[in-house]
Amino acid sequence: MQFSRRMDKLAPYLFVEINKKIAEKRAKGEEVISFAIGDPDIPTPPHIIERLCQAAHDPVNHRYPETFGLPALRQAIADWYNKRFGVSLDPEKEVLPLLGAKEGIAHISFCFIDPGDNALVPDPGYPVYGISTTLAGGKPYYLPLKENNNFLPSLNNIPDFVLQKTKLLWINYPNNPTGATAELGFFSRVVEFAKKYNIAVCHDGPYTEVAFDGYKPMSFLQAPDAKDIGVEFHSLSKTYNMTGWRIGMVVGNAQMIDALNRLKSNLDSGIPQAIQYAAIEALSGPQDSIEAHNKIYQQRRDLVVEVLNKIGVQARAPKASLYIWAKVPEGYNALEFTADLLDQVNVAVTPGIGYGRNGEGYVRLSLTIADPLLVKGLSRLAGWRNTRRLTLKK
Ligand SMILES: *Cc1c(COP(=O)(O)O)cnc(C)c1O
Repeated sequence: MQFSRRMDKLAPYLFVEINKKIAEKRAKGEEVISFAIGDPDIPTPPHIIERLCQAAHDPVNHRYPETFGLPALRQAIADWYNKRFGVSLDPEKEVLPLLGAKEGIAHISFCFIDPGDNALVPDPGYPVYGISTTLAGGKPYYLPLKENNNFLPSLNNIPDFVLQKTKLLWINYPNNPTGATAELGFFSRVVEFAKKYNIAVCHDGPYTEVAFDGYKPMSFLQAPDAKDIGVEFHSLSKTYNMTGWRIGMVVGNAQMIDALNRLKSNLDSGIPQAIQYAAIEALSGPQDSIEAHNKIYQQRRDLVVEVLNKIGVQARAPKASLYIWAKVPEGYNALEFTADLLDQVNVAVTPGIGYGRNGEGYVRLSLTIADPLLVKGLSRLAGWRNTRRLTLKK
């Protein structure tokens, strides 16, 4: 058989070697403790599961759902945005439920990108922005996220010939993998830039509710006129520990929502309705689980940062997101440091290079690891020694 050339563009997974190493260790009966998984370990709150079970018993929900989502869900999403951000949305035109944010992120590229077109994509970044651009026949133009600019992209140095063919700009705050956050000033500059060059903005914001020390991240749609030129992807995955249920949403510009809805109605048949009812319960029911979970993540964050700094790995405590973006110590690159942590102390982290060229020199540690294992993982990390620096000094 002959596969499409498109399939050749799906690069082989970068972590093959590391994953092989983990698998070999586990096969030998060694316990590898992983800080590499960005998936909340805490269960979905019980009242949400209760609603899901109830809805699953109702035969109405055994049939095809509507692609555009239950009107009550679109209303619940609009109400939640209003309550949380003071952003008002028309549930008929400016809200579209998704089978998880990732699904919408992957598909919207096909609404904008023709062969030869560019999308501006953050580097390091969530891999789907670039991959969907490529699959649609376009080319990602990478915007470096540098620590000295607080991991915000610079919009000033993009060549004109790139901008002329650019259809989409991707941004993501609170950011995966760097844990960086953005404020109104940045979002306003993005709106201004996008209007000037007629570029549609996709802000990916699944971590606005995972925040610490009383910090409240903003929605991109709080920036003046953001709705004229952009949308925001959001998700119930990280907010309510619902990654397994696959439900998210995109909100904002009505034309962009309509285009994605037209594409999706030809590809999928909507979100299982029982899950839509669970989402309504999540968005409109009690919200106290969010604060409780953030307290847990915050404690973990502080412990992880403390241990990293003790062993000579520079890391700052993020204000939001589930991730610590830590600097690889002297003498290693990201893949080498990851392998050395595995070899020395049986701890797995994610090498930053997996998120793009500018992720080199960093590793990502996820805060989604529960207590007995976390403590054990931390005491192992504390035992790591930088053997390369020592050899240099000798
Ligand atoms: C987790 C994550 C998503 C995907 O969320 P789902 O709704 O589970 O598909 C999207 N973007 C970023 C940056 C993420 O980290």
